Amino acid sequence: MRGQVIQREKQIDVWLGSPARHLITDSETSAVMGVQIERNGQLVNIQARNGVVMSMGGFENNTEYIQNFIGVPKLKVIGTLYNKGDGIRMAQEVGASLWHMKSFEGFSFNTGFTFENPEEDRGKFILSPWPDLSHGSIFVAADDGSRYVREDESGRHGHAFEGGSWKNPTVFSHPHLIFDETQYHQIEENGELPYSEFFNITVKANTIEELAEKIKANPITLKQTMQHFNRFSNDGVDLALGRSGDSMRAFDDGPYYATPLATAMLNTQGGAKRDEQARVLDAQNNPIPHLYSAGEFGGINANQYNGGGNLAECLIFGKIAGENAAAVKQDLEAKLDQSAKENVNLGGNDLASASVLSHYSTGKDQYLGVSEAGIGGRVIVRITYSDDQLKKVEVLEEHESEDVGQKAMDQLPKTMVELNTYEVDSVTGASTSSRALKSAVKDAEQKAKHATEN
Ligand SMILES: Cc1cc2nc3c(=O)[nH]c(=O)nc-3n(C[C@H](O)[C@H](O)[C@H](O)COP(=O)(O)OP(=O)(O)OC[C@H]3O[C@@H](n4cnc5c(N)ncnc54)[C@H](O)[C@@H]3O)c2cc1C
Repeated sequence: MRGQVIQREKQIDVWLGSPARHLITDSETSAVMGVQIERNGQLVNIQARNGVVMSMGGFENNTEYIQNFIGVPKLKVIGTLYNKGDGIRMAQEVGASLWHMKSFEGFSFNTGFTFENPEEDRGKFILSPWPDLSHGSIFVAADDGSRYVREDESGRHGHAFEGGSWKNPTVFSHPHLIFDETQYHQIEENGELPYSEFFNITVKANTIEELAEKIKANPITLKQTMQHFNRFSNDGVDLALGRSGDSMRAFDDGPYYATPLATAMLNTQGGAKRDEQARVLDAQNNPIPHLYSAGEFGGINANQYNGGGNLAECLIFGKIAGENAAAVKQDLEAKLDQSAKENVNLGGNDLASASVLSHYSTGKDQYLGVSEAGIGGRVIVRITYSDDQLKKVEVLEEHESEDVGQKAMDQLPKTMVELNTYEVDSVTGASTSSRALKSAVKDAEQKAKHATEN
């Protein structure tokens, strides 16, 4: 997709780092006439020829919206760090109705946890099961130290089974995994940790009361929870939450451990309400003229989510919204302000690599290479190449994930130089990022060879 947009750079303008601020409406009809954006430090009014499509994602990183709409203290984002729900505010300004504001999807281990880490950082997405966190002398404690999730339940997209259906989970501010010394060793002995920081963030105490103090839980409650857990474990039946007796082992005499958790969130579903023609609706369910939406901004999933539904509606509503927004609208045509056209030079397609490569310098024997095939799009490298030797590989630009793709960016340049080739083994689990890096180095090397031939 990205490649095709770049190929059509003359037909398609792409403006990165140019956030939409407001929709512009006709004062008589309330029809949407365009968008006000911020580009190169100035506010610019963009006139729409036929329609505007809002596809601004969710509000994953807006704490106020999460508290107001979802009604939970906080969620730990394991996806995008950039969606702040701008679309919601803009849609509200033009009278759109909102829907599915409470729905969100999660993932990761147990019912959908990740580990607590600094607020501005993405949470660790742990895709594979991690049985040691749900089997043995271990449980999840809420803020006060009580149990509230069936630890051995495998969540469905972060939803927990409750009263006959799969619900968004109960969320606490500072839940913890609580475990004993035997469990500590079990986790330690079972090989490479899916989260390398696990033991670094784990707190230790000699008594369960002391542990409670350290994690700001209620010592009496936490002690009672452990005693109940031990009883259920000895009886082989979890009367509180229905965890399998086989998965429970009574706690030993300590020391005890607590690892901070957070409820993981992939993405929100809420946004402006849309109909089957992708038209954004107002509070009376009437379409707001010339305004359309697609993707998870106002996704169609209400409370329950079908796996794959988000990307499906990106494709389906993207097509419907695009076609309907592009259809000629006579009223807008009549109102087009021809005189406004030439006012500001906004530039063309920011994705086009020719202009982007010019931002980077090259010295003697240095060549730039680019690939658009990374998980996050573009990868730009600078290689130093002479006498048929790849002497240095520098990654100048990449947008790969910190936890997975980054490994390829860190490890492969060194290997390429050592083996004097871009054709090196990919990093396990980061094959797309590896491929993109190899392709960028190949591009640079071809330029180097071409330069020495001429
Ligand atoms: C780790 C992970 C795995 C997933 N796996 C699946 C899966 O397997 N199947 C599935 O169906 N779904 C999956 N999802 C969900 C799915 O990926 C998302 O719902 C989908 O990508 C959303 O696409 P979108 O285009 O609607 O929004 P986004 O991809 O979030 O794009 C919104 C864009 O709008 C931009 N934006 C925000 N505000 C402004 C503004 N003011 N002006 C201009 N631009 C703005 C943002 O920067 C962003 O680029 C997954 C999500 C995550 C995080």
